[in-house]
Amino acid sequence: MYWEKDIETMGREKLAALQLEKLKETLIKAKRSVYYEKLFQKIGLNADRVTGLDMIQEIPFTTKEDLREHWPYGFVAVSKDELIRMHSSSGTTGRATVIFHTAGDIEKWTNLVARSMYMAGMRKGDVFQNMMSYGLFTGGLGFHYAAEKVGALVIPAGAGNSKRQIQLMRDFETTVIHIIPSYALHLSTVFEEMAVDPRKDTKLRIAFLGAEPHSEKMRRKIEDIYGFKGFNSYGLSEMNGPGVSFECTYQNGMHIWEDQFFVEIINPKTLKRVPDGEEGELVLTTLVREGMPIIRYRTKDLTRILPGPCECGRTHRRIERIKGRTDDMMILKGVNIFPIQIEKKLMGIPGVGINFQIILEREGYNDYLTVKVEVQKEFFAGDLKQLEGLRHRIVEELKSDILITPKVSLVEPGRLPKSEGKAVRVIDNRKE
Ligand code: ADP
Ligand code: ZN
Repeated sequence: MYWEKDIETMGREKLAALQLEKLKETLIKAKRSVYYEKLFQKIGLNADRVTGLDMIQEIPFTTKEDLREHWPYGFVAVSKDELIRMHSSSGTTGRATVIFHTAGDIEKWTNLVARSMYMAGMRKGDVFQNMMSYGLFTGGLGFHYAAEKVGALVIPAGAGNSKRQIQLMRDFETTVIHIIPSYALHLSTVFEEMAVDPRKDTKLRIAFLGAEPHSEKMRRKIEDIYGFKGFNSYGLSEMNGPGVSFECTYQNGMHIWEDQFFVEIINPKTLKRVPDGEEGELVLTTLVREGMPIIRYRTKDLTRILPGPCECGRTHRRIERIKGRTDDMMILKGVNIFPIQIEKKLMGIPGVGINFQIILEREGYNDYLTVKVEVQKEFFAGDLKQLEGLRHRIVEELKSDILITPKVSLVEPGRLPKSEGKAVRVIDNRKE
């Protein structure tokens, strides 16, 4: 049931002691990088004098901008010939950041993802089809080596090429996949076109769903279509990639691996820590990385710690599914809105299809929000009143949550742009 029982079920006190020891080691290592050497000198930090985990709060945060400014080697803490792999972020919000790993880093990362996959129930004997892009993106290779370590037969399918993906699943009886949630929905339409029923005609039993925010309703919708269990998988390239935080079989929040990451949640405005249970920005510190240690990294991802223990017996705390990035927040008429609020509502309305897009526009001093929604084909064939009824319902349901009245336009399935990578949900046409 556990990949590494001692670590996964370690008592909280012992875990804290381990973290303190690893934190001190990390500070000593980090000081060998150009960036932290300067920073520690500036704040007068001496790793030997760190006697408690709370003292980490005296160290300033590291941001994506810091990584960009000290690109490419400013954070590297070992001699360059120790590095064996480079990865980069997807560049969703600007210039991509690069991360370098030593052989030891790769080994530890691989083990962490293996631990996560095993936790969800993947075993030797499974056939694992990795439908993430291979290359600089961490979702490909990160999962690949871990699945081999678990002992699964790995099909390195990569992203896209939907028909071939389905063919591979059928020919080689794939049991486990790794897929971006919005792509899983898109792929279901290709299954339909090919007249293949994923529930009956495949052996799929587990899916790792990650790389982009998705609601519980969307997960359930995907699970219903495919008949597998979908596990939320969270990670970011700055913290290796996948394997930071993962759901166990209770599917109630994601365990965050505290033997390798020190976790804080802060209020993104005041930058002060918030107590467990309260929502805020996730801040992470690598505890075992050698090539490129990062201290108090502001992920910009919003979540909260779920208080209380998990029934699975693991002691590493759980975070709630990610609500979005602070950058994703739309401010309209003084109201803060996240794309996931819209997604959650839409996924709960019968008749709504699998894709949607949010468009922001400005006229004079007013901002307008339009939601384009794909709805099932039948609505366009029959009585237009039905279509109008559905449109009206969507407007009302969205309004009840986001508190402003959106414009809603309904389109036929397949009309909105689809993506094989992370979905682009928001088009902002407002001028500065
Ligand atoms: P980029 O930050 O450029 O997109 P990454 O490939 O490193 O590059 O992506 C990491 C980010 O993807 C995370 O910070 C988070 O915003 C998002 N993400 C990853 N996994 C999940 C998940 N399971 N749920 C929500 N968001 C996720
Ligand atoms: Zn659990």
